[in-house]
Amino acid sequence: MISKIIRIRGTVQGVGFRPFVFSTAKKYNITGWVRNSSAGVEILANGTPQEIKNFITEVKTNPPPLAKIDTFVESEKYSNGYKDFKILQSQIIPGEFIPISPDVAICSECQKELFDPANNRYRYPFINCTNCGPRLTIIKGIPYDRPNTTMAEFTLCDRCQAEYDNPLNRRFHAQPVACPDCGPQVWFESLTTGPEKREEGIQRARQFLRDGKIIAIKGLGGFHLACDALNQEAVSKLRHRKKRSDKPFATMVFDIETVKKYCLINNAEETIMGSYEHPIVILPTKKGMHVPEQVAPKMRTLGVMLAYTPLHLLILEPENDYPDLFVMTSGNISDEPIAYTNESAKDVLSSIADGFLFHDRKINTRIDDSVLTEYKGQKYFYRRSRGYAPNATILPKNSLEILSVGGELKNTFCLTKEKYAFISHHIGDLKNMETYRAFTEGIANYQHMFNTKSQFIACDLHPEYLSTKYACYYSEENNIPLLKVQHHHAHLAACLADNNWDSNEDAIGVCLDGTGYGLDGQIWGGEILIGGYQTFQRKYHLEYMPLPGGDSAILHPNRIAAAYLWKLGFPWDDHIPAILSLTSEEKNVMKRQLKLHINTPNTSSMGRLFDVVTSLIGLRHTINYEAQAAIELEQITESSITDAYIFEISENTINLNSIISNILSDINHKIHSSVIATKFHNAIANLILVLCNKIEKEYNLHHVALSGGVWQNQYLLHKTCQILDEEGFSVLIHHNIPPNDGGISLGQAVIANKHFK
Ligand code: ZN
Ligand code: ZN
Ligand code: FE
Repeated sequence: MISKIIRIRGTVQGVGFRPFVFSTAKKYNITGWVRNSSAGVEILANGTPQEIKNFITEVKTNPPPLAKIDTFVESEKYSNGYKDFKILQSQIIPGEFIPISPDVAICSECQKELFDPANNRYRYPFINCTNCGPRLTIIKGIPYDRPNTTMAEFTLCDRCQAEYDNPLNRRFHAQPVACPDCGPQVWFESLTTGPEKREEGIQRARQFLRDGKIIAIKGLGGFHLACDALNQEAVSKLRHRKKRSDKPFATMVFDIETVKKYCLINNAEETIMGSYEHPIVILPTKKGMHVPEQVAPKMRTLGVMLAYTPLHLLILEPENDYPDLFVMTSGNISDEPIAYTNESAKDVLSSIADGFLFHDRKINTRIDDSVLTEYKGQKYFYRRSRGYAPNATILPKNSLEILSVGGELKNTFCLTKEKYAFISHHIGDLKNMETYRAFTEGIANYQHMFNTKSQFIACDLHPEYLSTKYACYYSEENNIPLLKVQHHHAHLAACLADNNWDSNEDAIGVCLDGTGYGLDGQIWGGEILIGGYQTFQRKYHLEYMPLPGGDSAILHPNRIAAAYLWKLGFPWDDHIPAILSLTSEEKNVMKRQLKLHINTPNTSSMGRLFDVVTSLIGLRHTINYEAQAAIELEQITESSITDAYIFEISENTINLNSIISNILSDINHKIHSSVIATKFHNAIANLILVLCNKIEKEYNLHHVALSGGVWQNQYLLHKTCQILDEEGFSVLIHHNIPPNDGGISLGQAVIANKHFK
């Protein structure tokens, strides 16, 4: 007989790991014990060498579905032998930490029980088990045990307690375990109906939806606003009340068959959609399925997710004459963060929702739905949040303990420790108090969860970002060194780290986005960099153009278009739709601004160039959500068109004169906007190839990293990857974090790590 101590790190708590070890030990006649510690899971295994070998192989190769083993260390140990195998009390080791599981969509076994009249949790909206249910959203502290969650206030009934205590039960130590007798409950309230509890409340909510009303539903990470997506009037009403003119709404359906009714979906997309995370997946809409235009105006795609909690399943359950496609959008007013307490939802959403479906399980961390698309069989994120955060990104090497605070829009922050980078869930746009509070509280919460006291801090170079101001304050207050990182360098490094880049070699960074503070104080955004984690140089960039009125111009692509024409020396001719759309007063103000350089910063932004082209062709002159012009321009591209405009390059500058001149000429010749839009996209892809070829010749670099918000553009992404691939470049695109500013916190962290080391 021999004994071994096995120490396992990774996502191994709250995922059914101990019961799995317990039953595996029984299977191979192993005696000893298993326990959770604040560093992971520890096992003492006692048996014959062969039994131990079999046991270890099975633990390593066949862990429960949600478990992720990062390290597995075994060492010989003397022991007196044990009579049986036990699960011991959790052990707290000061300074240690383990990854925490994200929230998980309802599993198939729980779903079966939910609709089984014979089950004691039949139609119970909070059914869950070790393999599914809330995690991050209810965790208040570590270790992940019930007293450290918002479930602490619900005392388990005898039946639930017995399941919780039985290592062979699939609810063994499932911290959120509950039943109708002892767990949280739902109720429905509206102005016209009194509070109705449990099943009655659910039925009332369904009736409201059937009648075309808008209801607020408290879900897993916050409130959703829901209505029948096929009811044009209901959707318009929701848009009007939520003050959201055009930004596409996400939708939710009961099952994958319903997805197939409305959208085209391939196998990879189906797999991603049905994964433990149940994200919103952007899918092409099926032709002939008349989803009202108001759900996703001007889009050829629809964001769809499967019902991911038992409560959602009960609300969406199919029935004759009952809707099957639901708008399920964040419960907030325009840019504010999602409402997550019953009180704040009542405050904020009562002007929008006709009724509320509440429940009394508290949400500790609010969290939005994740949004992604599929690219070559893999996930490609737009927003990484529920289901994915706070999963760690594994770094190529051990890192210093750093806090990086991200950017201003689509903010996330990031904490590094050992080989882990914990990138936060999506915080949102840091421009109001509520989001800022979510940001600061989020940082404190993550530092606590992962037991880290950051020794270094990193932020963006932009002096006005709230995140930068916070970092300066934090650095002073805690007396720790601060590094300000240039925005596009952070994009490049984020993409490298996302690809587990572990080389001291430089890569080519094609960093295209809307706005990033440059080293020269100008607004950058069309940047071809050479660099790595340590340093970068700005090799090529778009020609500087004026932005009359600064940031406020961003809402008015037509003003930007006029300014670009002015700078390039083209007359403001009313035959050009962009010019025609401006009032004479607007033109007069702009002329003054441009001539006298009043509040007219320079920009090399690629995002703005998309705005300009969109307005020049008359597709859109003003926007009401971020990147709307560029998104709508992409929507009219045609992959069958291969023509392209040509960018001229002089020295390090990409000139705009010839391309704008050619676009104006095509407008004059009444060339279809789809053709112009596609030729413009193709021009950018070709430009990237030309520049990469030049750099390859000069520096012998073959890796090209594509990062920045512009890379949400699927047409451009496909086209660029294709032509770079054909020329033999290794293209690095994002996989685990979004290409947009939601990813730069990771870039800041890895740059700071190199710097401070
Ligand atoms: Zn389950
Ligand atoms: Zn119970
Ligand atoms: Fe950016």
